[in-house]
Amino acid sequence: MTAIEWSTLPFGYMKTNYNVRAYFREGEWSKLEISDSEYIPIHMAATALHYGQQAFEGLKAYMGKDGKIRLFRWEENAKRMQDSANGILMAVPPMELFKDAIVTAVKLNKEFVPPYGTGASLYIRPLLIGNGPRVGVKPADEYMLLVFVSPVGPYFKEGFNPVSIQIAHDSDRAAPLGTGRYKVGGNYAASLMAGERAHKEGFASALFLDAREKKYIDEAGPANFFAIKGKTYITPLSESILPSITNKSLMTLAEDMGLTVERRKIPVEELAEFDEVGACGTAAVISPIRRIVDPATGEEFFYCKDGKAGEVSTQLYKKLLGIQYGDEPDTHGWITFVE
Ligand SMILES: *Cc1c(COP(=O)(O)O)cnc(C)c1O
Repeated sequence: MTAIEWSTLPFGYMKTNYNVRAYFREGEWSKLEISDSEYIPIHMAATALHYGQQAFEGLKAYMGKDGKIRLFRWEENAKRMQDSANGILMAVPPMELFKDAIVTAVKLNKEFVPPYGTGASLYIRPLLIGNGPRVGVKPADEYMLLVFVSPVGPYFKEGFNPVSIQIAHDSDRAAPLGTGRYKVGGNYAASLMAGERAHKEGFASALFLDAREKKYIDEAGPANFFAIKGKTYITPLSESILPSITNKSLMTLAEDMGLTVERRKIPVEELAEFDEVGACGTAAVISPIRRIVDPATGEEFFYCKDGKAGEVSTQLYKKLLGIQYGDEPDTHGWITFVE
């Protein structure tokens, strides 16, 4: 293996040694299998390929100063994958199988866990697919759970530097009673058009509005949205956004810091009243937002006046990252060590 340049890693795929797989057949989950292949055998009529029976997760393993590898709130990812599975009628992986799969995948690829202090981490990608054949529209009777890992750098190449985002008026990533609250690939397919246009026009991401009224903020492509107004942390309440574990953790940390947390509808006009705004998710933790452009009205909202992330966002970012890397005490029991 050639040496990896940890500090310049992109957020992307890198081949590692092994991945792990379990199969659901005849009503039962198999034992974990270890594979060194990057490919999966799949039936050409698999429901994942035709009818979108597919869900995924994303979490990270962090190397602490003490040389120990930490997982952050893996139980939340396991539960969310179970919700996604139930939401699109797939076999539900048991908690213990999910844990065993991610821990095994990390242990088998220990040399790919980036060292402490490089800003990089080991991204863990669990994937659940319907791989039983169907031609008529029906849930499959066979499923595969797969976990691969990849060392990654920050998601936005700007890192913890403020980004610009663009409101999307002419497409929705999810319908009000659709699959927005499940982590399924179909939502991403629906978001690609607006996301790619945003990238082409120089923005880091698209910002989606509620699909019903187009009045309220939903979420920012692959990340939840939050705002700081005085001593309040505000994040959208919506049935079509993905319940982000990062956002949930930031809400807890905001309360610890003495802020009030509000989960409610956020009308677009309110963007003019916020002191700080940001996007949050496992990949980037927090991406501070410096500018939001509304192409429908030509309006622009500016934050980070001095070019830097706001004080509260910075504090939250440091606190959460500190817990993940083991520099801050784990007062909420969020960390699991990989022994
Ligand atoms: C995964 C994801 C997020 C972030 O969730 P985390 O649990 O914080 O990583 C936000 N929005 C969407 C659409 C997602 O798929």
